[in-house]
Amino acid sequence: MAESRQTVSETLAGIVERRPVLAPVLNAFAPLLEARSALPEKLSPMIEESGFVLPPWRQERAQQGAPLLAGASLKGLFPLLRKSADVLLPLLEALPGMNGYADALTSFFQNEEMCMRAADTLLTGHETALAEAAEETHLPPAVLLFALEVVVGPVLRALALKYDAPWDERASSWMQGFCPVCGSFPSISYLDKRVFDEKNAFLAGGGGKKHMHCALCGTEWHFRRGACPSCGKEGSGVMEFLRESENSRGERIDWCTKCKSYCPTVDLRECAGTPDMDAMALGMMHMDIVAAQKGLTPLKPSFWNQF
Ligand SMILES: [Zn+2]
Ligand SMILES: [Zn+2]
Repeated sequence: MAESRQTVSETLAGIVERRPVLAPVLNAFAPLLEARSALPEKLSPMIEESGFVLPPWRQERAQQGAPLLAGASLKGLFPLLRKSADVLLPLLEALPGMNGYADALTSFFQNEEMCMRAADTLLTGHETALAEAAEETHLPPAVLLFALEVVVGPVLRALALKYDAPWDERASSWMQGFCPVCGSFPSISYLDKRVFDEKNAFLAGGGGKKHMHCALCGTEWHFRRGACPSCGKEGSGVMEFLRESENSRGERIDWCTKCKSYCPTVDLRECAGTPDMDAMALGMMHMDIVAAQKGLTPLKPSFWNQF
């Protein structure tokens, strides 16, 4: 995307200004979000040192709906996970309600075998290894999964940054509602801004194309506006959107009338800048409450939207 993004703190400051009631929770999460967004660049050089072989993007595989890292093992990337854990665990443990788990989380991320096995489950979706790890560490499964996603996320982002978004090359390159790199569902989506051609100041495009944002590996990909990312149904009347008020600055939830899943969405044509999408997803938690009241389920359960 051409326009530069706001930083995490710029985005959070904007949200707090509009919605002061969220200040305590946004302030609590801010250090973790900021540190996490700075990590992938620091981890990037460690990928070569680790000897990890990046799988090539294969068009025919992608057309069958297989994410890039499907079936891959993160084996060998433990040093990156360690670095990520060193930076992020203290911030994670400082979150309200998390301090009681500090010792168990610390020892979990020191156990290479167990922690890499659990990390692989983020890519395979096999929950058995995760459930076993939760039992062994005496951590509630939701807490372990949250910590794992927080710590492994920047490592996956460092990997995803090595590709030049081949999934967005053509409209047919990647047709799925889940992430082309890691297979997760998006935490938030956005409609892009109008595009101006700087040289002659003509409107080059009306904007409004839909992009999905993966909270785990940070990848963004284009997706059809009339289609449900969860059940794949498409056509008029499938996707509806819900706004909180008239003056919502493009913030809404897009939900499927068929399977009742939803994804927070921001229409950037109604925003002044382009927010950091991870901070924005957290800042739209008031919409998660609206969605829960309507009986909808989040496409990507987050720590804060599991009511
Ligand atoms: Zn992803
Ligand atoms: Zn659906």
